[in-house]
Amino acid sequence: MTIVTGVTARVPAKLNLQLAVGPPRADGYHDLVTVFHAVSLFDEVTVEPAGHDTVTVTGEGAAHVPHDGDNLALRAVAALRTAARGGAAAGGVRVTIAKRIPVAAGLAGGSADAAAALVACNDLWTAGLTPQQLGEVAAAIGSDVAFALLGGTAVGRGRGEHVTPALAPATQYHWVLAFADGQLATPKVYAALDRLRAPRGSGGDGSPPGSGGSGGSPPRVSTALMSALRSGDAALLGRALSNDLQPAALSLFPALRKTLAAGLELGALGAIVAGSGPTCVFLAGTAERALELAVSLSGAGVCRSVARVTGPTAGAALVPAQG
Ligand code: ATP
Repeated sequence: MTIVTGVTARVPAKLNLQLAVGPPRADGYHDLVTVFHAVSLFDEVTVEPAGHDTVTVTGEGAAHVPHDGDNLALRAVAALRTAARGGAAAGGVRVTIAKRIPVAAGLAGGSADAAAALVACNDLWTAGLTPQQLGEVAAAIGSDVAFALLGGTAVGRGRGEHVTPALAPATQYHWVLAFADGQLATPKVYAALDRLRAPRGSGGDGSPPGSGGSGGSPPRVSTALMSALRSGDAALLGRALSNDLQPAALSLFPALRKTLAAGLELGALGAIVAGSGPTCVFLAGTAERALELAVSLSGAGVCRSVARVTGPTAGAALVPAQG
């Protein structure tokens, strides 16, 4: 008989179909309105009982991930232990993260790992937090953690931590991700956005059309995007993608212009920088078109590697134990 001691959760990367960024707040953060979309690129997080909390990271970009209490998965473990009121079962855990989501790529891999750690420890400790209670713990850990729990397509407000599912038919979209040879630190991209906006005043910040955000006004959800999602029409969705952080990411990583242009020339229905970058995201009309696009993009030498993914997909969930 196999004795199962560990619990594994699988968690998706996120795209931002819209990222509208308001002016900086007094605390230095920016109010956002974003439309999150979970896609089929997954990290796996396993937790096992141990004397004290440790983390081991393997896979894509593991060397760039903190192996101490700064790791977002370990922060999630500590936050859940507190929320579970230090129940007798909430002992130390050995956390093992198998990464496929590239690090500092605009895909919220760290937040994803935190969400997976919450789901896995809630099960390991039989802590019994409801999805809503887990969502509250998640929102206190980081901006994107609550969405990584929820998955699907959802509107995020505040710093992104207040999430509401978007009402849309169950259309499956085909995306190609172009991973860059390098990383972008999210705070540096926001600082670059503030610099780009500063001399131009409100309303003239260089955001792409339809983004709904500007340097001076509160960000709003894009009606063009929501109506594209309701219609399930990939061509409309491609035209409605927007990201206020894109000009800032391009200013810090100019090579991405060539990547975006190549994808559009190769027939993508839409092209956008993922979150704070530097991953570039392309929408294709069908699985076949996504395959052609992925092959052509990797041959064009405009990125480090490519991946085909679909969305929306479910949020962090337990992986059934084997054996
Ligand atoms: P953000 O979520 O801030 O938009 P991102 O999506 O671009 O960022 P992440 O992969 O989440 O990128 O990593 C951002 C930073 O978070 C990394 O540089 C890393 O130092 C830190 N980090 C902490 N824990 C993790 C983790 N488990 N996986 C990846 N990065 C982590």
